[in-house]
Amino acid sequence: MFIKDVRFLLSVHRIEQFPEPLQGEVCFAGRSNVGKSTLLNVLSRKKLARVSKMPGKTRTINFYVVNEKYYFVDLPGYGFALVSRHERQQWKKLIESYFSLRKDYIKLSVLLVDSRLPVQESDKIFVEYCKYYGLKSLIVLSKTDKLSDHMVKKVVQYFSDEFRSEVIAYSAVTKRGVNEIVEKIANALE
Ligand code: GDP
Repeated sequence: MFIKDVRFLLSVHRIEQFPEPLQGEVCFAGRSNVGKSTLLNVLSRKKLARVSKMPGKTRTINFYVVNEKYYFVDLPGYGFALVSRHERQQWKKLIESYFSLRKDYIKLSVLLVDSRLPVQESDKIFVEYCKYYGLKSLIVLSKTDKLSDHMVKKVVQYFSDEFRSEVIAYSAVTKRGVNEIVEKIANALE
């Protein structure tokens, strides 16, 4: 297994607090409740220390150290939380400063989307940012255990067409797609 050890390092809400880069990083994004924390736990094979996700609180970026060599970077969830213009601006500012400062170290940007919902505007914006910063992105469809195999095939095609990016069908319940995700991460980092 490529991912041997994952530990929480710190939570930041200002760019001055970003840790020194290591040998590469993979960032994770997605709307609130899409299953991002669950995926990070599945990939780490343990329950990672989690930071308060209270809506309306300052958005933070969480850094985890992987194999003492890389970072997993948990970007602030968005969607429900981005109702106010102010919050949207804050989120954009944080994501843009993260991308512009770290683009050379980000080897892969993983976007989780709910396999049961149509493409969301916020996800489109995120994918546009990734393209703008020249980042390689991977779309992970969460909660595919809620769909029939036939539907999974259809939604994979749908999201591939919409995002023009690589798409993996995943489920934390059945563990579908987990090995594939780990493989993509390993290939990107090594
Ligand atoms: P986050 O807000 O994106 O970090 O989402 P969480 O990881 O906290 O997950 C939100 C809810 O979705 C929780 O109740 C999880 O148990 C559930 N969940 C996460 N992944 C899956 C999945 O693949 N399948 C199903 N059925 N539920 C999931």
